[in-house]
Amino acid sequence: MAGVLRRIGRGIGEHVGRVPNPVSRSTRAAHARVRDADVTVTVCPYCAVGCSQLVHTKNGRIVNIEGNPASPINAGTLCPKGAATSGLVSNPARLTTVKYRPPHGTTWEERTLEWAMDRIARLVKQTRDDSYEERDGDGNLVNRTLAIGHLGGATLDNEENYLIKKLFTAGLGIVAVENQARI
Ligand code: SF4
Repeated sequence: MAGVLRRIGRGIGEHVGRVPNPVSRSTRAAHARVRDADVTVTVCPYCAVGCSQLVHTKNGRIVNIEGNPASPINAGTLCPKGAATSGLVSNPARLTTVKYRPPHGTTWEERTLEWAMDRIARLVKQTRDDSYEERDGDGNLVNRTLAIGHLGGATLDNEENYLIKKLFTAGLGIVAVENQARI
């Protein structure tokens, strides 16, 4: 009995081996999205680990971003944030205009970037002028304002965070400077 089964199995194997696997036309036409793409080596913008990335582009548009296997730092890997870099660039759901909700408002209104910058600068100046303390209650030199805080987002890169800290702490005397990635 065992010999018969072995012979049947061998016969099936030989038959399957001789017949070409059925592949649909669309499967034959399918290929990796990075095929024929230009590749640029860069560094993930997000944190000080400095993982290397490969950016694939076609006709000037990013089609893929992945870890660089040649990098001694990340050896082709990326953390979830770094792996989502292409979504930051090309996600169709990304907001690209300034949204403003006035006090007591219930809906978002669109504003220009210039309008938003002017308003932010005016309110920061006014609040700092009104709240600036050169010395605390014990006479210690503090040069600070406790009336303004800053919370950065996870998509701010190293250089942006450096400038934010320089401007807000050293420049304006803001004490409460944080980043969402640390919370
Ligand atoms: S992939 Fe992640 S760990 Fe690497 S640099 Fe980017 S944010 Fe940092």
